[in-house]
Amino acid sequence: MKVPSEKINFPVVSGSSVCFPKEALCPMCKTTRVQEPHSMAIVNLGAMLMTNRANGAGMMSDDLDGFLRFIWHGAHQDGRGNHAGTSAFLDIVEDVRGGQADLYFCSTTCLRAFFNACVDAFEMKIDAAQARVRSKKGKP
Ligand SMILES: [Zn+2]
Repeated sequence: MKVPSEKINFPVVSGSSVCFPKEALCPMCKTTRVQEPHSMAIVNLGAMLMTNRANGAGMMSDDLDGFLRFIWHGAHQDGRGNHAGTSAFLDIVEDVRGGQADLYFCSTTCLRAFFNACVDAFEMKIDAAQARVRSKKGKP
């Protein structure tokens, strides 16, 4: 199934908003309902403030801010690899109060399309950073 690729505004979740999408419609295909009581693939991410580690008890806490970030670390000194000397990042989830977030998709196909879109946006940021590095060095 081909999923239409639309521009995604990153970060998809930040601050006191902890769910993506805000409406109960799959953010990728925009045709299938998600959230209760529908079928869905959920990216559940974050941290738990452990209140009793021995019992495995924990809770969300306003002292935690959750995030999901892709980072490009370009090779330096004697290191080797693509986009040497370049650094870039993409914030997918940023400063989520309470430390946890949920991303909902109608299917694994749409989940895959979302991460493909994330990697596409990340590659654009790496390319832009590489272009800045080249222009500083006077390379074409
Ligand atoms: Zn979908």
